[in-house]
Amino acid sequence: MYAEIPSGLSEEQQALRSEIHRFGADVLRPVSMQLDTLSPADVVDKGSQLWKVFRTWYEMGSHAAGLPAAYGGLELDPSTSHAVFVEMGWAASDLAISLGVAAMPFQLAAQVALLAGNDRLVDEMIRPFVEDREARYVGCWAITEPGHGSDTLGVGRAEFHDPAAAGACRARRDGDDFIVSGQKSAWVSNGSIATHALLFCTMEEQRGMAGGAVVMVPLDLPGVSRGAPLDKHGQRALNQGEIFFDEVRVPGFCLLADPDMYPTALELTLSHANSGMGAVFTGLARAAFEEALTYARERVQGTKTIAEHQLVQSKLFSMFTRYRQAWALSRSVMIGLSELGGIGGLAHAISSKVTCTDAAFALASDAIQIYGGTGMVRGMLVEKLLRDARASMIEDGVNEFLGLVAARQLVDSYVC
Ligand SMILES: Cc1cc2nc3c(=O)[nH]c(=O)nc-3n(C[C@H](O)[C@H](O)[C@H](O)COP(=O)(O)OP(=O)(O)OC[C@H]3O[C@@H](n4cnc5c(N)ncnc54)[C@H](O)[C@@H]3O)c2cc1C
Repeated sequence: MYAEIPSGLSEEQQALRSEIHRFGADVLRPVSMQLDTLSPADVVDKGSQLWKVFRTWYEMGSHAAGLPAAYGGLELDPSTSHAVFVEMGWAASDLAISLGVAAMPFQLAAQVALLAGNDRLVDEMIRPFVEDREARYVGCWAITEPGHGSDTLGVGRAEFHDPAAAGACRARRDGDDFIVSGQKSAWVSNGSIATHALLFCTMEEQRGMAGGAVVMVPLDLPGVSRGAPLDKHGQRALNQGEIFFDEVRVPGFCLLADPDMYPTALELTLSHANSGMGAVFTGLARAAFEEALTYARERVQGTKTIAEHQLVQSKLFSMFTRYRQAWALSRSVMIGLSELGGIGGLAHAISSKVTCTDAAFALASDAIQIYGGTGMVRGMLVEKLLRDARASMIEDGVNEFLGLVAARQLVDSYVC
C-alpha cells in the first residue's frame, strides 16, 4: 500500500496546505482553464474571472503571506510557504505566478524598510497593501527591456560591468526625487494590471548593468503608459505587458537600492524569484504525474487498462521519482535561503528553478505520451500543463543562462 511520506508539517501547517489545495482545485484551476481560452485583453478585462481570483485571494489575506508580521503580514515560515507554492502550482502555475508577483514588490520593499527604516514607504505602500482586501494594490517586477533580456540577470558576470551594455531605462536624481525615462519589455508579468512596479533601471551607466537602482514606482504617476497585453502560448492567465516611462517624477522615499546596493538587491530578488519558481513548478510536475496516473488507471485499451503495461508503469515510476526530487530540492532551497536571509544562496535558488522547471516540462510531456492522442486535444489539462511548463524555462531567466550565472558564483566562491 502506497502512503505519502510525512512532510514534516505541523497540523496547523497541513490545515493551511489543505485550504490552499481546495482553493486551487475549486477556483484556481477552473478559472485558469477558462482564461486560457480568452484573448489577452479579455483576460484582464474588469469583468474577467481573473479579478474574482484576485479578490478572493486578498479577502483571504493570503496576498500578505510573505510580509513581515511587524507590518501586519502573515510571515509564513519557509516550509509552509513551500507547501503553499506547490499547491498553487499544482492548481494553476500562471495564476500562482500572477498572485505571487502581485505581492513581490511589497515584500521586498518591506525587507528594505525593516533594515533601513523608511516610514513613508511603510505608511504609503506596505501597510495599505497588507490591509487591502479588494486587490487595489497589485505589483509587478520590471527588469527586462526590448534590448536587454538575460544580461539584466547576469549578476557577477564580466559583461554586467560593461558600460556599453548598460540598460536603456534610466533614473536620474533631481533634488530629493528621481526622474525615470525609458521602457520595460512586453514580458513584465502583471504588466497590464499592476498598480506598482519594482523597477530595475540604470542610474550610473558608467558602471554598466551593475550601476542600476531599484525603485518602487506607483504606476498612476504622470508619464507612465502601457502597451497591449501580450499574446503567448502558455501561462495565458498570467498577463504580460510593456510599461513606458516618460520623464516620470518619483519621490525619493521610493528608492529601495542605489547603485552601491544594486547587485545585492538583484541577487536577493533573483534568489527569491527562482526559489519560488522551483516550488510552483514542483506543483506542476505533481499535477502532470497525477493526471498521467489517473488516466493510466482508467484508460482501457483492448482488454486491460494501460496502467497494466510495464512500459507505462516504468514511465509512471520515473515521473514520480523526478517529481519527488524536485519537491525535496525546492523545499530544502527555500528553507536554506530563509536561513541565509536571502543572500549568498543564488546558485542554490537557480539550481532549484532549473531542476524543477525542466522536470515540470519533462513530466508534462510524459503525461501527454501516456494520454496518447487524447493528450493533444485542446481543453485537456495535460496539454495546458505542457504549454505552461514550457514558458517556465524562459521565465525569470532562461535556464541555460541562469546556469552560467550560478556557475560563475560557484567558480568564484564555492568553498571545497
Ligand atoms: C512567462 C514569462 C514571464 C516573464 N516575466 C517577466 C517579468 O515579470 N519581468 C521582466 O522584467 N521580465 C520577465 N520575463 C522576461 C524574461 O526574464 C526574459 O525573457 C529572459 O530573461 C530571457 O530574455 P530574452 O527573452 O530577451 O532572451 P535573450 O536574453 O535574448 O536570450 C535568447 C537566447 O540566447 C541565450 N543567451 C543569451 N545571453 C547569453 C550568453 N551570455 N551566453 C550564452 N547564451 C546566451 C539565452 O540562453 C537564450 O537561449 C518573462 C518571460 C516569460 C517567458
